[in-house]
Amino acid sequence: MCLFCKIAKHQQKADIIFENNEIIVFKSINPKAKVHFLIVPKKHIKSVNELEEADRELISDMIFLAKKLALKNGISKKGYRLKFNVGRGGGQMIDHIHLHLMGGGKINE
Ligand code: AMP
Ligand code: ZN
Repeated sequence: MCLFCKIAKHQQKADIIFENNEIIVFKSINPKAKVHFLIVPKKHIKSVNELEEADRELISDMIFLAKKLALKNGISKKGYRLKFNVGRGGGQMIDHIHLHLMGGGKINE
């Protein structure tokens, strides 16, 4: 099982911000900004490359959740970054799809 599947099943520790049946959000272990959350579907999907039509609603829910969490964490007004890395060439190190939410001061990357 991959690291993010283990976190989703509470078999690996993480600083969890939000959770429902489909999505878990936790803090990046190596934050690149004051706020750096990872928005992760509980379903194992490797990357954007492996997305299927049936995942449309899930991906949409991830983006709306990002918007809500940005507002709740006071970074909406100034602005923030939402980022999917795809594959090694795109900087993806964990092969379980995740949306980075980064903001609050400088984004260090
Ligand atoms: P990426 O390079 O897009 O695959 O992003 C992987 C993200 O996962 C980075 O922000 C890492 O800091 C983060 N990360 C790796 N291991 C853990 C962990 N055990 N708990 C929380 N975040 C992690
Ligand atoms: Zn996984």
